[in-house]
Amino acid sequence: MAFSEITGQKNIKSRLMTAVKERQSGTFMFTGPVGSGRHTIAEEFAKALMCGNPGSDGACGKCPCCTYFDANTTPDIMRVYKPADTKNIKVSYIKDSVVPEAVLKPQFSQSKVFIIDLDYLGTDSQNALLKSLEEPPSHVVFILLSSNRDLVLDTVISRATEIKIEPYTGSEILEILKKNVPDCPEQTLKIASDNCGGIPGKAIEIAKQGEDIDLKRMVADMFLELPEASYCKILNDDAEFMAEHKADAVTIASDILLIIDDLMRLKGIPGYKKINYTEHRTGLEKLAGSPKTDSVRLGKCAGAVKDFLRALEVNANFDAASCSMLLKIHEELTK
Ligand SMILES: [Zn+2]
Repeated sequence: MAFSEITGQKNIKSRLMTAVKERQSGTFMFTGPVGSGRHTIAEEFAKALMCGNPGSDGACGKCPCCTYFDANTTPDIMRVYKPADTKNIKVSYIKDSVVPEAVLKPQFSQSKVFIIDLDYLGTDSQNALLKSLEEPPSHVVFILLSSNRDLVLDTVISRATEIKIEPYTGSEILEILKKNVPDCPEQTLKIASDNCGGIPGKAIEIAKQGEDIDLKRMVADMFLELPEASYCKILNDDAEFMAEHKADAVTIASDILLIIDDLMRLKGIPGYKKINYTEHRTGLEKLAGSPKTDSVRLGKCAGAVKDFLRALEVNANFDAASCSMLLKIHEELTK
């Protein structure tokens, strides 16, 4: 990755390139909401700062410093993120690990870089860090990240070059979405882009949720067509759909079990209100109303789905397992 591969933020990238070219040290603070790409930009900036031969597009990607960086084996970067076990980073960690480390020279790279997520540094921890920020050795660069500037001490802000991440334009958001959720339908991408407030992380989250809804819908459509479907359709179109969504196979299987559950409920109490697939109610009620859809057969359909899940666990041939499940359901609901 290079600066040009980061979408948008033209002014910031140019500012950071100057810092790299001039081998600037000191403290930079990236501010922007969660999901605004602070981490991505910070990582690329760090790599360029550490690179032995940076060019006009940031890190060269080829020198030993870049190789160590990419392999995540360089000792010259320290990332201070939220610990898994506590809400905040402990003061003792800043005092005993971060501050002493900042005095040591980099082992391989041009600069020693610290990426510190200020969102998890309370007042005491920020104060503990202050001394290092006040008199930074010339080989050290601190990259501070904050999603809420109000929680950062003025004394920290005054020692940092602040870099504010601007909202992304609609076309930039779409570009980011196409990289991150490539299989998402165009319409879902548009909804995500229109409702994310210019924050790519939020757009990706909306698109992924939308993708889940789209997948649910497609699974229900496929299932409801299964009793009437020809073998040709099942073995070609439906099998292809399963293969395309192989990564979501467990989700699809769970969705089918929920549909069977809905059919069981509707079978027991016609017009039963609390079903999972309300959008497909008409189709489900029609299928539940068929005399061929009895509870024994529905039980066997659920059994076919469970066989499919077991086949996934033992890495059996995916196409064979999914075709077998679909054909069993078809046969149970038609014979
Ligand atoms: Zn390099």
